[in-house]
Amino acid sequence: MDNRNRGMGMPAIPGMGGPQQIRLDLATMPDGCCVKCDNKEFISTANIKMISPLQSPTGQWAHGVAQWWACTRCGYKFDPNEWIEKTKKEEKETLGNAKIADSPIGDTGR
Ligand SMILES: [Zn+2]
Repeated sequence: MDNRNRGMGMPAIPGMGGPQQIRLDLATMPDGCCVKCDNKEFISTANIKMISPLQSPTGQWAHGVAQWWACTRCGYKFDPNEWIEKTKKEEKETLGNAKIADSPIGDTGR
C-alpha cells in the first residue's frame, strides 16, 4: 500500500509538514517581460526541429518540438536567462542611482 504512494505526491522536505508551508504567491513574483519592449504578454509558440536521417538514431527523418514564447508586441523570443541578466543590470543601476540620490549633490535649485 505504501509503495503505491511512493513516487507520487509531494517529495518530503525536511522541516516541512508543520503549519509552515512553502507557497508561491504569484502576485508577488516579478513578471517576465520582453527585454526589447518590456511587454509582459507572451504567446506560446514552437519550432518543429527536423532531425535528418544522418543524425537520427533510427536512421529515418524524425522531429522534435522546441517550444518558446514570443512577445505579443514585437515577437521577440523570451529567453529567461536574458531576462535575468537584464533584471540584474537594472537592479545594479537602481542601486547606483539610489546611492547618488543619497549623497548630497551640490546642485541647488534655482
Ligand atoms: Zn517585445
